[in-house]
Amino acid sequence: MKITFDIIISGCLTHCRHCYVNGGPAKFTSTKHLLNNLPRIKNLINMLEDKVGTVDIWFDYEPLSHPEFATIVTAFKKEFPSKLDFTNMEWPTTGISLLRHSYRNGVNIIALRQLNVHQIFFTFAGYKDSHNQHVKRQHAFEDQIEAIKLLHGLGFRPSARILLTNDIVHELPLLFQTLQTLPLEHRSIRVSDYVPTDRIRSLEQFRPTVEDVFPYLDSIIAFCNDHTQLFWEDFEMYSEAALCEKILKEYSATTTFEDIESCLPEWIFLTLDSDLRLYHGNAGQFTWYIGSVVENRNKKIIEKIIDFGPNYHYAAFFKELKRLPIPLEVLKREPYSGRKIYGNEHDFLLKCLDEYMENHSQLRKSLIQ
Ligand code: SF4
Repeated sequence: MKITFDIIISGCLTHCRHCYVNGGPAKFTSTKHLLNNLPRIKNLINMLEDKVGTVDIWFDYEPLSHPEFATIVTAFKKEFPSKLDFTNMEWPTTGISLLRHSYRNGVNIIALRQLNVHQIFFTFAGYKDSHNQHVKRQHAFEDQIEAIKLLHGLGFRPSARILLTNDIVHELPLLFQTLQTLPLEHRSIRVSDYVPTDRIRSLEQFRPTVEDVFPYLDSIIAFCNDHTQLFWEDFEMYSEAALCEKILKEYSATTTFEDIESCLPEWIFLTLDSDLRLYHGNAGQFTWYIGSVVENRNKKIIEKIIDFGPNYHYAAFFKELKRLPIPLEVLKREPYSGRKIYGNEHDFLLKCLDEYMENHSQLRKSLIQ
């Protein structure tokens, strides 16, 4: 079993409309409180490794904005020297805190080097004003561009991802022109993941269709220089209609969501909030409360984690998967002939399940509490 132990020490400097963890400004974790409780956290992680599986530690949202990020990193690195090594991982950031806070003294840069961060990635939600509006922060676009140049100059390897929505497709030529002049290791374009949260539900109206993409397809493929290029080469296979047809053909009448989840990675995501309360929550979400790391006994917390189990995809949002309707029933009830594009069949199926549950509120209520 793999476990990701996500530590949230700050909110974000943006409030992105495409955020699947509902990120935005939030309070900072008290450094004193966190470090005083570091022995308890260490003990919990050691017990998890003994009883459940391998633990990786991650800092989510925008940890660089925490005024004492470097102090926290140094303390954690001392306790978990091998766990805090991000050599092969991309560190996401808006770059704002690097520009506004650490460029003056460089401590966050030193902290990133301590963590062995080499690759840093930025998300563009539009060109200039649209990006700034979508992330709800003035100059966020300009700051990202400057941060990319700054980080490249300091020896990091920045990458950029465009989050494609139907209201920014017409801006792609300008975005390509700007991003192609920057020192980017990877350039990619993705559509939004689907998660059943209000923020992502309201983003659905901006999900691009096959027809939105067609006029820009050649330039999209030319722009991407990573695996997303393959996605766009075959992107019609990811429309609602095509995914629905594929699932109806490939899934048997007895396939359940429990069966599907059991074929996905056996992975538990945990999130520790700024008050050191631990949640069962995928990639920085606070889906189900587990307990307080300060007040509850680690043994009790571990029992609850084992009881909750893995939460890679469907199980991240619905308990007791065996009580869900079967996927074929979910799909057949709706006319999924649409042309909106999803990243993969599981995101599409989760969207369909979420829509189904909207119409079955009693069942939904009993499965999400
Ligand atoms: S997308 Fe990233 S930067 Fe934007 S609000 Fe969410 S966690 Fe924060």
